[in-house]
Amino acid sequence: MKTKETPVEVGATRAAAGRGVSAVDPIDAPGGNAADGAPAGETTIGGPGTEEAPELSGIGRGLSILGDRWVLLILQRAFLLRIRTFAGWRDELGISESVLAARLKELVKNGIFVQQAYRDGRTRLEYRLSDAGLRLWSLLVAIYSWERDWAGREDLLPLIHHSCGHDAHPYLACGSCHKPMTARDTHTERGPLATFSRVGLARQHRRTTPRGDFRTDIIGYCPSSLEILGDRWSTSVLAAAFLGVRRFVDFQNELGIAPSVLTDRLKRFVELGVLQPATGRQYRLTDRGLAFFEVFAFLVYWAQRELPGPEGSDLDITHKPCGSPLRPVLQCRHCDEVLARREIHFDLSATPGQA
Ligand SMILES: [Zn+2]
Ligand SMILES: [Zn+2]
Repeated sequence: MKTKETPVEVGATRAAAGRGVSAVDPIDAPGGNAADGAPAGETTIGGPGTEEAPELSGIGRGLSILGDRWVLLILQRAFLLRIRTFAGWRDELGISESVLAARLKELVKNGIFVQQAYRDGRTRLEYRLSDAGLRLWSLLVAIYSWERDWAGREDLLPLIHHSCGHDAHPYLACGSCHKPMTARDTHTERGPLATFSRVGLARQHRRTTPRGDFRTDIIGYCPSSLEILGDRWSTSVLAAAFLGVRRFVDFQNELGIAPSVLTDRLKRFVELGVLQPATGRQYRLTDRGLAFFEVFAFLVYWAQRELPGPEGSDLDITHKPCGSPLRPVLQCRHCDEVLARREIHFDLSATPGQA
């Protein structure tokens, strides 16, 4: 893949910089881009100059908020176990109070939780998911779904679809044409300011836990998806891979990431079977990595709607078969209906692995 390395100047016209790229570099689908009439496989590294870094794009903000394993676990427990109190998360997750307080503060600041006072003898505070927070349900279910299909999680609980009564075993579909959607049949136009550089710099407290020390529990998540999504640099590397970045040097330019950190994340992704090394110090998404598009699609969709960035900072993803803009939905594998948050539940009584 050819990659343009010259950084696009801030203020460059959208037409010049908003070049079409494929959301994926089809490993085994030569000419996958031909139908777009776009310069096949060419990507524009849209990083603005470092001195005048603009406000982060929606996706950049989304990655910086959600690319954190504790945040994912806090949200997951809020949805599944309806935990709303500081003590509830602390006891359930065994998380240190200072880390939990910092994460909750950030989630409130970013409008995902709303703090509410309630009376329990004395006045206490609880954290409720805002409407924007509630809309994250599909992202969390997409992680579950990826784990179930690609991380060998036989132990995950079935997700029951109320209207058909069956295990929904969700799949990603296009909300316009309702056909299944994969990374390979989407096309991405990238705004000139759709950059992820600095995503990893925005927060100091990284890696508060060593890798792999989470117990694997039946309501998820497993260490591999926490490693893919639960660290800001990792999520950014994966996002760049979905945008067609392949070469080490391009990841570096794109993300403004230290070479040692980049080397570490790429190595882990290869070990996890998400990326595979190719000649010329390149890294390509494997099928397992491509399947993570299911999660990425919901992340992009949510972030761009809930955390809009400056003009020109969006990714415009299109579902090629129908030409509609990205509107990811999860559908039931049994009845093919679109799943809604209130119409599904995890069967907590099921024996894992025997469902
Ligand atoms: Zn479609
Ligand atoms: Zn169903």
